[in-house]
Amino acid sequence: MVRPQSTIKRTARVSGKGYWSGTEVDVEFRPTSENQGVTFVRCDLPNQPRIRAAVGNRVKGPRRTTLVEGGHAVEMVEHVLAALQGLQIDNCEVWVNQPEMPGCDGSSVHFVEALLRAERIEQSAIKPYLTIDSVIRVGDESCWIQCEPSQTSGLDLTYQLEYWQPAIGEQHFSLLINPENFLDELASARTFVLESEAKLLRKQGLGKHVGYDEILVFGDEGPIQNHLRFSNECARHKMLDVVGDLALTGVDIHGKLTAFKSGHRLNAMMAMALIEQVETKTDSYRDSENRMFNKSA
Ligand SMILES: [Zn+2]
Repeated sequence: MVRPQSTIKRTARVSGKGYWSGTEVDVEFRPTSENQGVTFVRCDLPNQPRIRAAVGNRVKGPRRTTLVEGGHAVEMVEHVLAALQGLQIDNCEVWVNQPEMPGCDGSSVHFVEALLRAERIEQSAIKPYLTIDSVIRVGDESCWIQCEPSQTSGLDLTYQLEYWQPAIGEQHFSLLINPENFLDELASARTFVLESEAKLLRKQGLGKHVGYDEILVFGDEGPIQNHLRFSNECARHKMLDVVGDLALTGVDIHGKLTAFKSGHRLNAMMAMALIEQVETKTDSYRDSENRMFNKSA
């Protein structure tokens, strides 16, 4: 359950277009010291402002995870964060020259490949973790996430998807999250939109430059001009988003988590609820330490 923190040995780069902006962006992953967590650095701006990957920096926005600190933003960070969390790379600076991360193929795989080339190295500090000891639930009947205690060490995730569109329909996927499983089963699952949504987004001027080979667009018969990597690729991608969004807690989670039709908003609500648990536990730990100290004093 306890594991050392890690970073990368050397820098790694990924370049590509932002899905929403269409702008070319360069991402550079850089090693950093222990207990630093993940920080985005906007190297295109004066004084290179830093934006920490923390749930308190998340702002509301449609269809993506956006972080803001000191008035500076980074967008579409979830697939980058999922890659780092999935590979257990805890301390890393992500230098970017645009607010939006590159869409690549809609999955985490380009970031993962770059990070693997950069090689993960262990550090001496221990990665903080939270063991779930009671049921935590967010959402309502239409969509929810529930976290509960588990016998297994690690995060045991299940995602249940229900789409009215028969080409997607009902899908579910379960996975124990560790670097090996993440690489094999989750990293390459791509984001998806319905054809009707894609048309609407294009009308609004968004994603005009994104082709069918760059994002899964579902028509009535299935993906248009594209092929699925897994029969339940949509559920897997939604799970990838959960991993990326929960990375904002900054801790490893040991427990069983089930998500039903959740998206970034609910994922963030669960991340907040988990952070509260971490803070409560830290406080009670401190209290018990103080009591012990007072007794002996
Ligand atoms: Zn996603």
